[in-house]
Amino acid sequence: MTTDTTPRTITTQRVHWDLDYDVHLGRTWGRFMQGLTDKQILANSCPECSRVFVPPQAYCESCFVATDQWQELPPEGEVEVFTVAWHGFRGGPKPPYAIAGIRLDGASTLLMHYVSGLDLSDPAAVAEQLPPGTRVRAVWAEERTGQILDIAHFEQI
Ligand SMILES: [Zn+2]
Repeated sequence: MTTDTTPRTITTQRVHWDLDYDVHLGRTWGRFMQGLTDKQILANSCPECSRVFVPPQAYCESCFVATDQWQELPPEGEVEVFTVAWHGFRGGPKPPYAIAGIRLDGASTLLMHYVSGLDLSDPAAVAEQLPPGTRVRAVWAEERTGQILDIAHFEQI
């Protein structure tokens, strides 16, 4: 008979955190969030490859250079992908709800956000309501505080 001499170790421990905290946004995201309070969707672009980022990025991950050119994008674009969340999470919206990857006009990247106005009662019928290329526009929150939900959601045009 062999004896296992490996020490037994507990590797995880379940904890519960429920706390408010401030996230440091940095210059790039700070400028983006400030723009949202003024109903502006600000993007920046890479001086090397000219890709336009929204949400903005401090650096282009392809060219490894700082992004220093800013522009305002229109609050409209096209849905490229979407999913429906059927289960909620604490602090999130009440399910079901749709989240889409939206390419704003002039953007090279997708902005993920909620799309409202869909009938989500039949899972099989959701895709027909939001095919790729569906035009959507931002609906601004009445009170804006510098967070992504200053855009309350997008709606079909
Ligand atoms: Zn680039």
